[in-house]
Amino acid sequence: MTESVKFTLPEDRIPKAWYNIAADLPAPLPPVLHPGTGAPIGPDDLAPLFPMALILQEVSTDREIEIPEPVREIYRQWRPAPLFRARRLEKALQTPAKIYYKYEGVSPTGSHKPNTAVAQAFYNKDAGIHRITTETGAGQWGSSLAFAGAIFGIDIDVYMVRVSFEQKPYRKALMEAFGARCVASPSTETASGRAILEKNPNSTGSLGIAISEAVEMAAQRDDTKYALGSVLNHVLLHQTVAGIEAIEQMEMAGDYPDVLVGCTGGGSNFAGLVNPFLGRQLRGGEKVRVVAVEPAACPSLTRGKYAYDFGDTGHLTPLVKMHTLGSTFVPPGFHAGGLRYHGMAPLVSHLHQLGLIEATAYMQKECFAAGVQFARAEGIVPAPEATHAVKGAIEEALRCKAEGKSETILFNLCGHGHFDMQAYTDYHAGKLTDQSYDESELAMALAGLPSVNE
Ligand SMILES: *Cc1c(COP(=O)(O)O)cnc(C)c1O
Repeated sequence: MTESVKFTLPEDRIPKAWYNIAADLPAPLPPVLHPGTGAPIGPDDLAPLFPMALILQEVSTDREIEIPEPVREIYRQWRPAPLFRARRLEKALQTPAKIYYKYEGVSPTGSHKPNTAVAQAFYNKDAGIHRITTETGAGQWGSSLAFAGAIFGIDIDVYMVRVSFEQKPYRKALMEAFGARCVASPSTETASGRAILEKNPNSTGSLGIAISEAVEMAAQRDDTKYALGSVLNHVLLHQTVAGIEAIEQMEMAGDYPDVLVGCTGGGSNFAGLVNPFLGRQLRGGEKVRVVAVEPAACPSLTRGKYAYDFGDTGHLTPLVKMHTLGSTFVPPGFHAGGLRYHGMAPLVSHLHQLGLIEATAYMQKECFAAGVQFARAEGIVPAPEATHAVKGAIEEALRCKAEGKSETILFNLCGHGHFDMQAYTDYHAGKLTDQSYDESELAMALAGLPSVNE
């Protein structure tokens, strides 16, 4: 049997526009609020942090937003990204389901992150910005922005969550190879970092803390802006190239997904795959079931509260309505560093609230087991974050087997794990544990939600 397993689009099929689901939502997103006044903020309030082009994308309700030609030009290095059918995995699972995956690990840094890093660097360059500060968890975002900074000639300063800084030294080497500076967070460079270290000199850090550090540095200088690798509307927007391509590739395969699966840290790779499909559904097209998979040790969608909260621990950001574990919540140091954020993208939270998506959570060991099973069948070692999507897809395939259904499953394999092999070494040595978050710490973090919720 020689049925195709790989669906490749020609270069001229790189999307010409990103898809903005805000145009098709049955109810608009709740407004972003000023933390001092509790009133909705406007574009000018965000101007110290982001170039205006990105702020306008953040609040846009246009269905299509044109991708600048210089950005498409750079996308050509790895886009359109391939879509595969996982025939050997299907066989290993003995499932009647068909499993497809969109593979974003073909980018220069091995994940979906450059889809937005390149776009953000482009708009910053266009606005005359010379330096961008940012945070990074596992280092995927820091290295992607470093890559984009090298292309556009922008200095990049990265605050990297300390636990990952120590677990993943090669990510820092990659950032430095691209010319960026990478500092372990919390650091002594910022007031927010020093405040944390004073209370807890051994702090392992968190994305919320690293964001405070990066925002603080950007707010101080006119030639410096801040960039975020997930969560915000414009970031999710840039990631829709994956879903737009996937719709066309599923057509090539003569199929359409019944179920979509993605892992969720801040929600960007997930939304990038699913939003174009959900848009079709919202405009009266095919219905899809959509499953978000998150780590059980940092379960914002399944255990968090849908409430206004700060995006960072130091409370420098505006208030956004999202599923949150509380901005002071520090998750345990499990290996999927990219999934250790206390909140979920407001847009993904909103989709969940509207009943358009489901959410589920898994422990890290069962995710690594799924990652290993996938690697042995398909030859790609997934990033620790991506193993959550693999686990979710395998569970759906096994459900199909139990129910005798031949559904079509599509998931986002958002990155490879070549910089995370220490995690696989630990897994095989039996050293990985299923860490739970501290219930009392969660209760405390939730009790500290801003008063605008009352
Ligand atoms: C950063 C990252 C994630 C988590 O971020 P999202 O915005 O939820 O996509 C997931 N997987 C990989 C490979 C990442 O690099």
